[in-house]
Amino acid sequence: GRGRFSFFSNEMNAVAQERLALEAALREALKHEQLTLHYQPQINMKTGHIYGVEALARWYHHEFGEVSPARFIPLAEECGLIGELGHWALREACRQLGSWRKRGINVPMISVNLSPTNFHNLNLPQMVMNALQENALSPQDLTLEITEDVLLDTNPSTLKTLLQIHENGSRLAMDDFGSGYSSLNYLRKLPVSELKLDKSFVEDIEHDETCRALSYAALCIGESLQLTVIAEGVEKTAQHYILKEQGYHAAQGYLFSKPLPPSVFEQWLAEHKSEAFL
Ligand code: C2E
Ligand code: MG
Ligand code: MG
Repeated sequence: GRGRFSFFSNEMNAVAQERLALEAALREALKHEQLTLHYQPQINMKTGHIYGVEALARWYHHEFGEVSPARFIPLAEECGLIGELGHWALREACRQLGSWRKRGINVPMISVNLSPTNFHNLNLPQMVMNALQENALSPQDLTLEITEDVLLDTNPSTLKTLLQIHENGSRLAMDDFGSGYSSLNYLRKLPVSELKLDKSFVEDIEHDETCRALSYAALCIGESLQLTVIAEGVEKTAQHYILKEQGYHAAQGYLFSKPLPPSVFEQWLAEHKSEAFL
């Protein structure tokens, strides 16, 4: 009251202090390009070879240690840094793919995660084109992963931006499919080319008949709309087999590889060149 505020308790004060410190650190990290991207391969179920890679942001801070994206992505949202973070991830992923291609390392395509707020920006389609062109890539080399939240968001620019990106030839993937609240309405409205089944369905697929039925239902929805359907969070051979048998087009998970720093990912690629995951 009276134009002043104070925190409720010392504990809350400490939490707020830490958050402020983390926010300042994230601002610095973005400014000095201290975030990195790790790459997780996606496997084509038919051939057993690489289908693409997903770029996942990583942040190591000398004081806070490894900060999880589950923490710093929402933080970036809250403190207005998500636009910058999205732009950085896009440029960095394209730079990396361009560099692999130049060195004759065959990576078929790259997926980048973006937050709903990134699609408010009407310049995003142009930013995407620039990042591709600067690295001699074509639009088909890039997939942008979005979550169901994009439709909970009522910003009028979102749909326009998504349609423009699709028109320019890049693909949109619906990430964490089945875990949100926005029903199937977005499949009518958004130009999505790929569905990524949420890993919660894969986790229990071996033992839970309902999970198996739901993952199959998700595949049928995708197939009937001519979408590529990918399963996430595949950790066990048994899960891989079930999903393959159901007809999943691609899979991603620790069974094949964890997300890796670029140089380690290159080694992984070299080691698995002739060996297929079947
Ligand atoms: P996501 O896009 O759904 O990414 C998949 C997450 O599952 C990643 O977590 C990945 O490391 C993890 N994962 C992969 N395989 C397995 C597995 O076999 N088992 C299990 N249990 N987990 C697996 P990560 O890297 O911690 O990222 C978490 C989320 O943070 C991502 O979920 C994505 O939504 C977000 N994120 C990451 N990087 C970015 C980014 O650059 N921009 C934005 N906006 N969001 C990002
Ligand atoms: Mg993703
Ligand atoms: Mg996901």
